[in-house]
Amino acid sequence: MSSRAVLAIGANIGDRLAALQGAIDLLASSDGVRVGAVSYVYETDPVGGPDQDDFLNAVLLVDTDLDPGDLLAACQAVEHAWHRTRDVRWGPRTLDIDIIAFDEVVSDDPDLTLPHPRAAQRAFVCIPWLDADPEARLPIEGPVAQLLAHLDTEGVRRRSDLQLVVPGAVR
Ligand code: ATP
Ligand code: CA
Ligand code: CA
Repeated sequence: MSSRAVLAIGANIGDRLAALQGAIDLLASSDGVRVGAVSYVYETDPVGGPDQDDFLNAVLLVDTDLDPGDLLAACQAVEHAWHRTRDVRWGPRTLDIDIIAFDEVVSDDPDLTLPHPRAAQRAFVCIPWLDADPEARLPIEGPVAQLLAHLDTEGVRRRSDLQLVVPGAVR
């Protein structure tokens, strides 16, 4: 039986849109991963970390036959393909893929904490997640729309001029 996972993708170095589309394409071609809905693209102020350029962010819904650890490995392989490095905590990056939720799984493993421990505080995750799934719920925390009501959304701007495409999707 397949599982549903919610992935947040972000980039703030180089061709940011190409990185987000590349992430979708590589994930869609990963064994056991099918990309469903994709959000709009948002330009967002960096949160935490050093002074750095704005991000592009989006959220994807995927169906997967992988277990959570193997899905994380698949996401990290895609980051690696985009030459992701980890120099400074919350520093600039070519591509970041976080697993926001995996079915109703709850885990405090530092290598894969589920749901993502900072998702409920991040408008740059909650806003695009609601595009992809207006009924979204974060395990433990509750409806994403309610979480968003408590967040500062000022630094999250929809880029209607940019579009991500799901390979093979009928449009
Ligand atoms: P943040 O997690 O606050 O968004 P980040 O994305 O910059 O920060 P990374 O350097 O990409 O952090 O990841 C650090 C480690 O976090 C990874 O090596 C990974 O094992 C771990 N990790 C724990 N939970 C998750 C999760 N839900 N999704 C992705 N990585 C996770
Ligand atoms: Ca992240
Ligand atoms: Ca990450």
